[in-house]
Amino acid sequence: MVGAPPSTHAEVVVDLGALRHNVRRLRELVWKGSPTGQVMVVVKADGYGHGMVPVARAARSAGAEWLGVATCAEALALRAAGDAGRVLCWLAAPGTDFAPLVEAGVDVTASSLDQLEEIVRGAREAGEVGRVQLKVDTGLSRNGAPRSEWLALVTAARSAQDDGAVRVTGVWSHFACSDEPEHPANAAQQEAFEEALALAEDAGLEPEVRHLSNSAGALLHPRARYDLVRVGIAAYGFSPAPDVVTTEQLGLVPAMTVRGTVVLTKELAAGAGVSYGHTFVAEEPIRVALVPMGYGDGIPRHASNTAEVLVNGVRGRVVGRICMDQFVVAAPETHAGDEVVLFGPGSHGEPTATDWARWCGTIDYEIVTRMGGRQTRVWVGEEGDE
Ligand SMILES: *Cc1c(COP(=O)(O)O)cnc(C)c1O
Repeated sequence: MVGAPPSTHAEVVVDLGALRHNVRRLRELVWKGSPTGQVMVVVKADGYGHGMVPVARAARSAGAEWLGVATCAEALALRAAGDAGRVLCWLAAPGTDFAPLVEAGVDVTASSLDQLEEIVRGAREAGEVGRVQLKVDTGLSRNGAPRSEWLALVTAARSAQDDGAVRVTGVWSHFACSDEPEHPANAAQQEAFEEALALAEDAGLEPEVRHLSNSAGALLHPRARYDLVRVGIAAYGFSPAPDVVTTEQLGLVPAMTVRGTVVLTKELAAGAGVSYGHTFVAEEPIRVALVPMGYGDGIPRHASNTAEVLVNGVRGRVVGRICMDQFVVAAPETHAGDEVVLFGPGSHGEPTATDWARWCGTIDYEIVTRMGGRQTRVWVGEEGDE
């Protein structure tokens, strides 16, 4: 938590010390001292709303061998910010020019034969050996080559490697149900992944890294760790499967706090309706506080009349609809200028993003990733501050 008095009306505070703690903790939980197991911290979507570049730096300083992003633009932004380590990206539209990625030393993903061809073309244009990882769809039915294309893909990749255009650095896939340990899809996907690995091996490929697991896979499916785990949500301090294991049980610390300043308070008489549509009507006189954040800042409107916040150290419930710029909280002991904490690590009585997710019928991934309209984003716990 931030002790200093609020300097702005609305802030997203990101604790990079918590992030580094989580990355180290995850390595311990997953690899238990194994010297060869590698960790990729996934920093796509602006680091799940935490700020891609500061998160990337914190992840590297905590020992992440890899950073993972979805788009090519994200990978190039990491390079532009000075990151020189291994970076994998995995989502590119047809027609993507891969030459700049090859030049930047980014590992790119081929999810189809056509995409492999485009990568080879980009590598030739760049005049360098492109690093490519083959993504196989083992049952998520999203990105990745379908099973019917695996043989052709590994064969073409082998021949492109023999030609000196690319080096196949990885073979990988992604789970659909890893947060449900008993789901039969997990075993089926792993079996399919094994088949893909065998095909790659038969084609003479020797990938540096084989990987299948996101945070939930890494923590809940020890057999699916292979050479590398791709951790996103757990690095930001959340259990990837809160119904199976809690954040506290994992020893993770949520890195994001959203807080602000109460801008106005007032007493409402019994019968007063609050906010658009008067979906809340005071049954008795109440004191309310106005919070200067709304769905324009990523606060979900679905939290209307359900979410709680910490106002001046006491829990208060959102009353009425959350608007674009503001919402109202029932808070008996509050004054303009008081601190309001929407969510944080939960260590001072404030709700967590996981609580907000439950209140809104979504997942904490979405809660943290959508933050960031007009709030000031602040990073604390830089390495030097320790
Ligand atoms: C986002 C993403 C991850 C990280 O998932 P978490 O559940 O946040 O750990 C890993 N791999 C791929 C392919 C992803 O798109």
